[in-house]
Amino acid sequence: MMEFLSSLEDVKQTIIENSKFIKSLENCCDDSFRDSLQKLVDETMKGRLEIGERIIALKTKQKRIDDALQKALSETDTVEQLNVKCTEFFEKEDKKRINVKLSTEYKEFKQQMNSAFGGSNVTNVDDEDVAEVMEPGGKVVSMFDPWSKALMLNPVRNIKCGHHYERDSVNAIIKDNCGIRCPVVGCASKCFIQPNHLEPDMALRDKIRAYKAEQELSDSSSEEE
Ligand SMILES: [Zn+2]
Repeated sequence: MMEFLSSLEDVKQTIIENSKFIKSLENCCDDSFRDSLQKLVDETMKGRLEIGERIIALKTKQKRIDDALQKALSETDTVEQLNVKCTEFFEKEDKKRINVKLSTEYKEFKQQMNSAFGGSNVTNVDDEDVAEVMEPGGKVVSMFDPWSKALMLNPVRNIKCGHHYERDSVNAIIKDNCGIRCPVVGCASKCFIQPNHLEPDMALRDKIRAYKAEQELSDSSSEEE
């Protein structure tokens, strides 16, 4: 099983090395080639991060299984007991979500990719889609404030377009400026945001709280190696 883990690690390293290689090509070519390289980087970045994410998820899962098996072996005397233990573990494991994007390893991977590409746009690949809730009707709502990119604690809804902002964030911004439009990419509303356009969204606030609690729970359980 260690072999499986180390080959996953190899794949991850290959992605990083390959990124460094592409970046190094920049030094030995002309402007137009450099432009196409940059385009390649931009277009494949999301995919690279996604593969990294999946590898880290697999590694996390494999590590948990290994640990659980070791523990089960040390605690049981018979095959029957071991069977029961393992079944319990897998039932519990099925209910757990792996939140890769919050893991230290993913953050490190992202940083490595960032430095491999010489600090270009990796960090701009938004992880906003990490935390979204589906509203009735299939509308996807981000849990992040469009300005600070932080998880919203007191989300308010713009009644003109339906987008959400962190209360303190938007209030600070529109306080001294009455010419601020909704910052959400692709928003069709041309209205300037006014205080009376904003209403607290308690349902979303509760969803974010539940999400946060779940994240903290699974984050601490994955740290206990
Ligand atoms: Zn909007």
